[in-house]
Amino acid sequence: MAALSAPITEISGIGEVTAKKFNKLGLVTMWDLLTYYPVRLEDRRTTKKISDLIPGETVCVTAVVFTPINGRRSASGGTMVFRATLRDESGFLPVTFFNNKYVKNMLVQGREYTFYGKVTASMGRLEMVSPEFEPAGQERFTKAVTPVYASTAGLPQRIIRKAVKGALELTKDILPETLPAAIRDRHRLCGLSFAISSIHFPPDLESAELARRRLVFEEFFILQTALRGQKLLSRNFSAFPFANTDLSPFTALLPYELTNAQKRVVGEITADLHGGYPMNRLVQGDVGCGKTVVAAAAMYLAVKNGYQAAMMAPTEILAAQHYAELGPLFDKAGINSRLITGSLTKKRKTELARELAENKIDILFGTHALIEDSVVFPRLALAVTDEQHRFGVRQRARLAEKGEGVHILAMTATPIPRSLALIMYGDMDVSVVDELPPGRQRIDTFCVGENMRQRINAFIGREVAAGHQAYVVCPAIDDNPSTELKAAVSYSENLHAALPGISIGLLHGRMKAAEKDAVMDAFSKNEISVLVSTTVIEVGVNVPNATMMIVENAERFGLSQLHQLRGRVGRGRSKSYCVLFAQNTDEQTLERMKIMVNSNDGLKIAEKDLSLRGPGEFFGSRQHGLPELRIASLANDLEVLKESGSAAEELLTSDPHLEKEENIYLKRRIDEFFSEKKGFLA
Ligand code: ADP
Ligand code: MG
Repeated sequence: MAALSAPITEISGIGEVTAKKFNKLGLVTMWDLLTYYPVRLEDRRTTKKISDLIPGETVCVTAVVFTPINGRRSASGGTMVFRATLRDESGFLPVTFFNNKYVKNMLVQGREYTFYGKVTASMGRLEMVSPEFEPAGQERFTKAVTPVYASTAGLPQRIIRKAVKGALELTKDILPETLPAAIRDRHRLCGLSFAISSIHFPPDLESAELARRRLVFEEFFILQTALRGQKLLSRNFSAFPFANTDLSPFTALLPYELTNAQKRVVGEITADLHGGYPMNRLVQGDVGCGKTVVAAAAMYLAVKNGYQAAMMAPTEILAAQHYAELGPLFDKAGINSRLITGSLTKKRKTELARELAENKIDILFGTHALIEDSVVFPRLALAVTDEQHRFGVRQRARLAEKGEGVHILAMTATPIPRSLALIMYGDMDVSVVDELPPGRQRIDTFCVGENMRQRINAFIGREVAAGHQAYVVCPAIDDNPSTELKAAVSYSENLHAALPGISIGLLHGRMKAAEKDAVMDAFSKNEISVLVSTTVIEVGVNVPNATMMIVENAERFGLSQLHQLRGRVGRGRSKSYCVLFAQNTDEQTLERMKIMVNSNDGLKIAEKDLSLRGPGEFFGSRQHGLPELRIASLANDLEVLKESGSAAEELLTSDPHLEKEENIYLKRRIDEFFSEKKGFLA
């Protein structure tokens, strides 16, 4: 027996050298090995007689090594080729191995083995090439359902299999059960011991499926119990209760009436702010639904109750735009707001910090510059993060930590499938703005090829002549012959030639902040008609007079990203268009573009994107702040995700602090989740 935290060197056959290789894969303890789930299983249970073999099939054959094992250099000289002939009662079968000199020592003429490999035919003669083999009667990884692991060159499958098997044998009597019996019964889940052993070496495929379901459930369950438990805990701290919830002076300043969805969400936020507990709310809504004004309403209340508020955006362009849009509005309400970004001079930043500390600033807009240590709020009560999926968990938390018991309001325009929101934001309440302001028209979307270039340019010309503006988004800044992607710099030069007399601007991430601001400012004043840009305009930018969005190399972008880009137009009352240039027209590209052409629904698009590309790609690597999942798949296990979510809810209702005896191991796993410490139950 060995503890789950024992090093893998306690497994017989694993010495220091081999252990080092395992360590490289992150595998140090028994528990690490037990939870190193295979990437797939191979069903090796079919055994055939030699005379029954069919070319193309992969099967087991139990046979005697009939001839000596013959080694020879290949004709080209580089490779060692070993050949022998096998025999069973039905016939003969040649086998070939390449470069595997161990074969000569391991296979003994006259002895019987089980071989597993693919049957090939060359010139009518059947043969097996590079089969795996084990002595007959001692089969462990042939004639069985066998795991295949992710590996590095230094660790053959056979060594990993042996190690996992060893770990299983050493720990099978001490694996504690994480899930309480009532939950296992209710959700038809097998025990942990069976699950761990069958995820690696299942007696049959049904067992493998049972094992997987149990482990997926458990992974989601722990995640959700942890996040929801967190939410309950935050209920213990009191915060700034907002006594004054009168928004009518604020809404009277708006040039439009709030939509019903906006009113509802503002109501939910107001109730939170009034409630005496810290708010932790996510506002989700498709691009253009009007989330900014919802946040502005909350910030207004913060100030009217005597506190400060902050609003953080992921890019300088967006932060500047918030300030430009809301600053004048707040002025009219007698509220003093300012903007802080990384590109300000040190002097200006110090000045802002001083004004802030002296309570002269009510609302501070900004980028990451907001969370620098020098920025100190004496009475911060509300922290807003816009496009919050662009920030890491840490960055979001740091803004809220500028005060104690601060209300948190997060906004995201990347519509997240509800199931995924549950996982990502399980610790938050979610409000959805599910209505667009009136008068918006559907954005017509076209997917075109290079042959349409001239017509599209003419189209831009006509839109500009009608007083409208256009965006062109390129995936690169500079030309690069090896990728042949459209590049913003040369594109804008070429466009000058194609559209003489039209004012064309250029915007990309390598420009200085002040230059970017100047270009964005000129575009929003319609001094620039066509803005050629990289994806720096992806989030939030709001110029309602723009009616055309052209995306070059559209095949390079995720669907949700394309939807975000498209959301830059269709913000005013005029008809808007989105043109997707696809340079590559393989089937998958066409399928993805078709989704864009046919749907304007961000949520549907996000769900498709998620299933086509998986969650990692969907959110861009590691941008999402999602914990790593070991076995569950957000794209394919949504049913189990839901089921485990309600189970987590029930459990926390009956035992909010997980103090009951039956929940002890669960509690440890959850503590481990937060500490990010390895070595469960050490
Ligand atoms: P997003 O939800 O994508 O952040 P914005 O807050 O930028 O959207 O709003 C998009 C546009 O809609 C802005 O020009 C804003 O002034 C306008 N808008 C917001 N709410 C309304 C409304 N109720 N009626 C009319 N226009 C609105
Ligand atoms: Mg926005």
